Amino acid sequence: AEITDLKWSKAACRFCGTGCSIMVATKAGRVVATHGDAEAEVNRGLNCVKGYFLSKIMYGQDRLTQPLLRKRDGEFHKDGDFEPVSWDEAFDIMAEKWKATLKAKGPKGIGMFGSGQWTVWEGYAASKLMKAGFRSNNIDPNARHCMASAVGGFMRTFGIDEPMGCYDDFEHADAFVLWGSNMAEMHPILWTRIADRRFSNPHVKVAVLSTFKHRSFDLADIPGIFTPQTDMVLLNAIANYIIQNDAVNKDFVSKHVNFRKGETDIGYGLRDEHPLQQAAANPNSGKSDPISFEEFAEFVSEYTLEKAEEMSGVPIATIEKIAKLYADPNTKVMSLWTMGVNQHTRGVWTNNMLYNLHLLTGKISTPGNSPFSLTGQPSACGTAREVGTFSHRLPADMVVKNPEHRAYAEKIWKLPEGTVPDWNGAHAVVQNRKLKDGDINCYWVQVNNNMQAAPNMMEEGLPGYRNPDNFIVVSDAYPTVTAEAADLVLPTAMWVEKEGAYGNAERRTQFWHQLVDAPGVSKSDMWQLVEFSKRFTTEEVWPAEILDANPDYKGKTLFEVLYANGQVDAFPLEQTSKDYANHESEDFGFYIQKGLFEEYAAFGRGHAHDLAPFDTYHEVRGLRWPVVDGKETKWRFKEGSDPYVTPGSDFEFYGKKDGKAVIFALPYEPAPESPDEEYPFWLSTGRVLEHWHSGSMTQRVPELYKAVPDALCYMHPDDAKALGLRRGSAVKVSSRRGEIHTRVETRGRNKPPKGLVFIPWFDARQLINKVTLDATDPLSKQTDFKKCAIKIEAL
Ligand code: SF4
Repeated sequence: AEITDLKWSKAACRFCGTGCSIMVATKAGRVVATHGDAEAEVNRGLNCVKGYFLSKIMYGQDRLTQPLLRKRDGEFHKDGDFEPVSWDEAFDIMAEKWKATLKAKGPKGIGMFGSGQWTVWEGYAASKLMKAGFRSNNIDPNARHCMASAVGGFMRTFGIDEPMGCYDDFEHADAFVLWGSNMAEMHPILWTRIADRRFSNPHVKVAVLSTFKHRSFDLADIPGIFTPQTDMVLLNAIANYIIQNDAVNKDFVSKHVNFRKGETDIGYGLRDEHPLQQAAANPNSGKSDPISFEEFAEFVSEYTLEKAEEMSGVPIATIEKIAKLYADPNTKVMSLWTMGVNQHTRGVWTNNMLYNLHLLTGKISTPGNSPFSLTGQPSACGTAREVGTFSHRLPADMVVKNPEHRAYAEKIWKLPEGTVPDWNGAHAVVQNRKLKDGDINCYWVQVNNNMQAAPNMMEEGLPGYRNPDNFIVVSDAYPTVTAEAADLVLPTAMWVEKEGAYGNAERRTQFWHQLVDAPGVSKSDMWQLVEFSKRFTTEEVWPAEILDANPDYKGKTLFEVLYANGQVDAFPLEQTSKDYANHESEDFGFYIQKGLFEEYAAFGRGHAHDLAPFDTYHEVRGLRWPVVDGKETKWRFKEGSDPYVTPGSDFEFYGKKDGKAVIFALPYEPAPESPDEEYPFWLSTGRVLEHWHSGSMTQRVPELYKAVPDALCYMHPDDAKALGLRRGSAVKVSSRRGEIHTRVETRGRNKPPKGLVFIPWFDARQLINKVTLDATDPLSKQTDFKKCAIKIEAL
């Protein structure tokens, strides 16, 4: 009877960018079980170990249930202790601080940080509140630390964001090449699809390239360990090999590819007739002179196999084996990468260089031929990228620096001309610096444990949060290190405690209903954003010239001009699902999730980002955009699969004006910090299977916590021996920026080569981001967490 009492509903997994569909059982207002959704194409009934324990992530004993404000003697005090307050008191002090800062410093004095864990409409609501409401582009997502280089790579090579292929490629490819990715732990369900393909088809090959040996090497036919940063050399060497061995797909290249010199041209594309088709004026634009194929061939000719071996440490025979996979016209190749490539001071270039290989050989946009950029967060694509939460972006790949794009957004948002500011907001690392320097004084963090996730946190993170001039608000479900560093903590509904939508790495948008209530007075991020917007009138935040020219907007609250029924399309509450009361919608008085989603979808419909109608997503296991005439798109840019491709053109990279993708000639560039006498080891950080992101949810699941309780210092046994250390020895790991104490691990899942150590960052008690370097890619502004110089000493 207990089992039959359960009510099962579908939802997307709360964790990684794989985007598994989950069946969720509820009983008496609680989530009591989860299992993989057998109807889902992504995971076919499977979950990884994190997915199996999803039912426990909401029920940690220290769940936040009401707002907490630092107080002393009944008043807010920066050095006071947290005391429970009402939502009204919380919003009152927030509004007071925001208004004072806006008056003193204008929109640049406030900032916001979010992530690809926002649901689609939450990220959209946040971006709209900041960029249109407060007229501040100082909003950035955790995707800046995660996917920004991938975005830059897509925009430069194709003029439009996100992968052209899809997960169906796993069942078609003859070879898989992992570039700095440990899919066995980070995308385990996708790894099962690769393993299935490999074991069922003896001709299939798996190549794994990384700076250290990890679990994905268990399946590697072709393993390769390279010196950090020399992936750039290997990629150019493979391009050179393809050319030298006459393996260029000349027909494809002559019809569909342009060659350019390295620097940059990220232009927003789409077809000439579309109003968004503009010469982009954005932070990544610049000179990028055309070159010929012969000039490109000459450029990469210096990257010989010998040079690649010398610089990377990967034997020529291994490089050649991988190069042959790309060069053989009968081998369909899927390249896969994520943080190893993106968290790189030349992450954008490295993304471009990966596309170079697929474009030279024409191995793209067809089943099994797929350069595939994986994502880390559950809605890195659907929210962080697509709705425009980056500090330089607007929805649907548009950018704030482009006047046509701003005008387009203002029109959809029914807002006066000039509402959206024309300056690039501060990105993640700069936000922390501006907080430290007192240039940003009011800061709101949602769905992110930014203090733990950001680099160099003792020098660049914590000082800004504790700067006495600043007021820091953190919305979270648990007391993370970020929440503990805040002045006001807002308790937040999570996952199926609210209606939601995520977009995964293969462009699949997935919805779920609210299934249970949040504890205490916790509320969703969207509720918090919308309620906060009611505290401001346009007169308080918009300049007189905008209001004088648009008097209808005078005397309105930001809620009225941004979110209210009539401003966004109104959908009555009766339209919510009959099976599940939508408690949030009742709070708003109309179906705001649907209103915001349909408004957001208007940005993409008709120009290659088409989403299906809102209600459709509650019925299906997700759809891959563009969804045109009810049909999803599996392979973009390919005639017959992508409805946007002009008939007769075979392939069309329509993100670029002339329909051609770009191969860039890009050089190797050394890492910003390398080991030396004083700091003789490379440090790479990353994740482990059992913990997701900063571990704030998974560490509260007893089974996952016990499986991997601590972040250990994985190192080579010979290095340990040379330092007089052994497995379990306590050590101090330090860089020029900070230090942590941890224990040595010389066995187990990660086996670094001599001279490199790997330390995961999920563990707040051994927080490796005190040590990491905050160097960023000059184009994407993404941080390089994969390499800096450290030393290790016995404690
Ligand atoms: Fe799937 Fe990722 Fe969730 Fe694991 S964590 S079940 S791989 S979405």
